[in-house]
Amino acid sequence: MEHPKNYRDLLKLGEDACYDYLASIRWDGGFTCPSCQSKGFWKTKQRQWICSKCKIRARVLAGTLFQDTKLPLTVWFQLIWWFVGQKHGVSALGLQQNFGIGSYRTAGKILAKLRACVAQEGRSLLSGTVEVDEIFLGGKNNKKIIAVAAEKRGLATGRIRLQHIESRGGSDIQGFIQAVIEPGATIRSDRHKSYPTIVKKGYQHEPQKKPYSWEEVDGDDERLLPRAHRVASLLKRWYYGTYHGKINNKNLQHYLDEFVFRFNRRTSKNRGFVFQRMVEAAIASNPRPNK
Ligand SMILES: [Zn+2]
Repeated sequence: MEHPKNYRDLLKLGEDACYDYLASIRWDGGFTCPSCQSKGFWKTKQRQWICSKCKIRARVLAGTLFQDTKLPLTVWFQLIWWFVGQKHGVSALGLQQNFGIGSYRTAGKILAKLRACVAQEGRSLLSGTVEVDEIFLGGKNNKKIIAVAAEKRGLATGRIRLQHIESRGGSDIQGFIQAVIEPGATIRSDRHKSYPTIVKKGYQHEPQKKPYSWEEVDGDDERLLPRAHRVASLLKRWYYGTYHGKINNKNLQHYLDEFVFRFNRRTSKNRGFVFQRMVEAAIASNPRPNK
């Protein structure tokens, strides 16, 4: 089935067409019976797919983020389209106002689901040369340490990853690197003592020596880890600007995942493609991300 390329395409999809669209992603290459693998089926009025051989009922929403939802899929699709188009993050209030969602709490739950899709989508590993550094958010009493990894793509920045970590200790830093970067990649970092041990885990390491204070350097100097620093300043602006520094520790990682998702697609002109990736992630996501 064709992917919607713009908002008009999206609005043309009725509820049945939304189900067909999900089915076309879930059963890539056509329906396959989960029990007997046969390809024949018919659809019921309740939008169940029934295997024409063994008569098993397959529900396209089962086991996806949309399982047990009370909202029509047409509304979900519009929500996802809106979500991927907001460059500076979204709030439960914004969602409530834009979509006439009854309560703030419900809007918050929907957002949590959308953020879970985003996390699902961000699991591929970074490669090549990757700058790694730490960012500090929050005040003295509630300091949060965020590990950042940013791929070098020529002079520009490739994909990024962010993770809320407990400390700058070797095991936290190493855990982050192993979770988000391919072994064999080259890690550029400062000379903090937590980094050299990653060599034992199969990474190359290029510790950068800070320029002397009397040297004249610009912000793009490779020794200053310019990509990681650019991400750090954008993240700070986002954290203090959009959220006024008020994100509790429990939700912080979800917000970071959303930031990463938006950053990694900042140059994508094709909103339909980003939409498609989100729907794919929704199909692969746990129906109850909060539990
Ligand atoms: Zn069957």
